[in-house]
Amino acid sequence: MAEICKEAVKSGLEEIAFTDHFILCKLEPPFEHQFDMIQILKRKFPLKIKFGVEMDYFESRENELKRIIANNPFDLVMGSAHYLNDLNILNRGEIDNYLNCHNIEELYFNYFEHLHRAIESGLFDIMAHMDVIRWWHGKMINNKIFEKLSFDSYREQAEKIVKALKDTNIGFEYNTFGYSPKFNLNDGCPSIELLQMCKDFGIEKITLGSDAHSLDGVARDLDKGLEQLKEVGYEKICIFEKRKASFVDIKEIE
Ligand SMILES: [Zn+2]
Repeated sequence: MAEICKEAVKSGLEEIAFTDHFILCKLEPPFEHQFDMIQILKRKFPLKIKFGVEMDYFESRENELKRIIANNPFDLVMGSAHYLNDLNILNRGEIDNYLNCHNIEELYFNYFEHLHRAIESGLFDIMAHMDVIRWWHGKMINNKIFEKLSFDSYREQAEKIVKALKDTNIGFEYNTFGYSPKFNLNDGCPSIELLQMCKDFGIEKITLGSDAHSLDGVARDLDKGLEQLKEVGYEKICIFEKRKASFVDIKEIE
């Protein structure tokens, strides 16, 4: 964590959030240690450091999630959807199997239905990488290229998601991982179309993140992300402290 802070300061960032991924049933909550560590790092680095979490949503276990959220002093609780029941949507082998008896449209449909339920649960401050399912675009699955679905083919569901954000006053993360050559989406996450839809529906709570899983991911492509946000009309981004949102002008952080 200290290395990440060092890298963040070097990259000129003024604020970062640690949002480790937490999957109920797979992990013991490691939060106490992390919270203490962040207090130490705050004294060491000229950096605002936020204690966040990315929490996978499980419909049947909402009460447990609620309890964990209530019992930890998070600055930011980000919800995400990686598991459709037992299917890990980012696992190649599992997606391989799934696509043996389903098609890509069904995968998208089920993913967005799950994301919708996660938003409606009202548990989270923001939703992470909302159309992460596009991660597979152009990759080989089952000896076939995973074809890219057009935004129009899931526009209705996207609208349902964005309306749910509006109704629950939940925001979303704009994640720049898609710009990296490894993922090659040439776009952030959500895509420019979904991002524009969020702006048009008046979803103002938007955070910016690079989803750094290692040092070279710290601040990666945030400049491209800011450009994209401005292009669709965002002038501010959102930061969280003790789960309260406030806004910063993009002009001030460029
Ligand atoms: Zn994630």
